[in-house]
Amino acid sequence: MMKKRILLALTTLAGLSSFNVAGAVEQMKPEHTEVWKEIKKVNPDPIPSDAVALFDGKNMNHWQHTDGSKVKWKVEDGTVTITNGTPSIETKQKFCDVQLHLEFRAPIPEGEPLGQSQGNSGVFLQKRYEVQVLDSYDNPTYANGQAASIYKQNPPLVNASRAPMNWQTYDIIYRAPIFADNGKVKVKAQVTVLHNGILVQDHFQIMGPTRYIGLPEYEEAHGCEPLELQNHGQVVSYRNIWIRKL
Ligand code: MG
Repeated sequence: MMKKRILLALTTLAGLSSFNVAGAVEQMKPEHTEVWKEIKKVNPDPIPSDAVALFDGKNMNHWQHTDGSKVKWKVEDGTVTITNGTPSIETKQKFCDVQLHLEFRAPIPEGEPLGQSQGNSGVFLQKRYEVQVLDSYDNPTYANGQAASIYKQNPPLVNASRAPMNWQTYDIIYRAPIFADNGKVKVKAQVTVLHNGILVQDHFQIMGPTRYIGLPEYEEAHGCEPLELQNHGQVVSYRNIWIRKL
C-alpha cells in the first residue's frame, strides 16, 4: 500500500515536471542556452603557453635534490637521466592542483625480468602520492606496483607500456586533498592518468601518502608541495616536463 502511494506520488511529480519543462522549452529561444563570455586563450605549441616548463631539455634550474643540493642527474641531448648514488629530485616551486605532462624512458634490461628493480622511478605528487614509473612492457610484478599504478593502491586500468628505450608519456590531472581545520582529510586527493594517451587512472581517490609497507592513510594536513621524481637506483631518463596550475 505504502509502495503504491509512493509510486503514485513519483509518477505525478514526473508528469508535472515534464509538463513544466515542455512548457518552458516552448517559450525558449536558442540564445537562452548560449553562454557568452571571454575564454582565456592558451597556445598549445610547443607546450601550453600557461604552463611552467619544468624541464625543457636544457637545465635543471627548476629542480634540486631532496636534500636541497644542486641536481647531479645528467642533462644531455634534451634529456635528464638519473645518476646512481644521488637522492631523488624535487621542484623548487610548490604545487597543489595541476595538470602535469612528462616523458620517461626505461633502460634496456639485462637478463631476467627484475620486477620492481627494472626501470623503477616515480612521480610523487606533492612529495607523497606516487604514480609509479616502471618498465612494465615484459616485466611481471604486483598489479598495483606496475607502471601507471598508484603505487600499492590502485593498478592501472590497462597496461599501455612501450618497450624499453622508447619514450613514454604520462599526462596527469591531479586534485590535491583538502583538509579540515582539525587536520583530518575532508576531500581525498584525486588523480586521473593517461599513459601514452590511454586512460589508466580515472578519477582515482588516493587513500593517503604512498607506503611501501602498511595501509595508506592521511596522517597530517599539508598545503602545496613540490613535485618529486624518484631515484630508485635505475637509469631512467626524463624529458619534456611541463605543469599547469589548475
Ligand atoms: Mg617507484
